[in-house]
Amino acid sequence: TAKQSRQGIALYAAERDPHRTDRLGLLSDLRQAIADDVLELHYQPKISLADGSLLGVEGLVRWRHPSRGFVPPDMFIPLAEQSDVMPLLTQRVVSVALAQLAAWNERGLQVPIAVNVSPIDLTGHRLTDLLARGLEDYGIAAGLLQLEITERVVAEETAELQEVLAELNRMGIPLSIDDFGTGYSSLLRLKTLPVGELKIDRTFVSKVCESRVDVGIVRAIIDLAHALDLPAIAEGVETVQQQEVLRSLGCDGVQGWLVARPMPAEQITDWILQRRV
Ligand code: C2E
Ligand code: CA
Ligand code: CA
Ligand code: CA
Repeated sequence: TAKQSRQGIALYAAERDPHRTDRLGLLSDLRQAIADDVLELHYQPKISLADGSLLGVEGLVRWRHPSRGFVPPDMFIPLAEQSDVMPLLTQRVVSVALAQLAAWNERGLQVPIAVNVSPIDLTGHRLTDLLARGLEDYGIAAGLLQLEITERVVAEETAELQEVLAELNRMGIPLSIDDFGTGYSSLLRLKTLPVGELKIDRTFVSKVCESRVDVGIVRAIIDLAHALDLPAIAEGVETVQQQEVLRSLGCDGVQGWLVARPMPAEQITDWILQRRV
């Protein structure tokens, strides 16, 4: 009844209050962490299914909170996105990735790093300016820094966004569409976007051995990627069985716990060096 639902709302509002304080606390702690430069990236490899070669790594932000321990990105990225903190966070993430690329360069390693950017990073030219300056300062080839943008972004049809993506493309920065299959991008839109890779969302990959429907969806995404001349990379691959189904569907690359968990810089460097011999 209406009365019950009003009570529900009142209860909900009351419960949310401490929650809200908590979120504000977390956000100001995050701001501090960025100022103190304590955010880290962990790196997870992407592997070619054709020959097992390393395609690159994805950098995933990690925040060790002084009292809470590691806070998962799914908990603080949405908070950052709803505030002015997101551009600061992205700036940190980009410079950590560039410094890592420079360190690898010095050791003769040329492994592309993909960083995740949020939809709001793609408004205005902050990001393109930041990247142009960063690549120059660190002396990094544009092709080594990849950006993962979610399909949510692609669905948006604004002229500004189109211009930013075109500019990134002109700069030679490869774009990857993340979480593919969860958004609503039109085929026409996909065809005209300057992207270099589709990443199949983990929700489909995780059920690829159990559900005929999910196999069908994954097959359709792979075929779509190929029709667009793009490689399809499956994320969240946890088992050999999943990997074999993906291989049989013509998937080009995999990323997930089966190959390796995300690792701190030193560990991924060892991992890369060991694979090369
Ligand atoms: P995402 O971009 O889809 O990243 C993949 C997530 O799946 C990562 O979670 C990764 O640790 C996890 N993962 C990888 N392999 C497996 C697997 O085999 N099984 C399972 N169950 N999970 C796997 P993580 O690091 O917690 O990041 C969550 C999300 O937070 C990311 O999803 C991304 O959307 C966002 N994120 C992470 N780092 C950044 C960042 O630097 N900037 C922005 N804007 N977003 C970020
Ligand atoms: Ca990603
Ligand atoms: Ca993803
Ligand atoms: Ca995801």
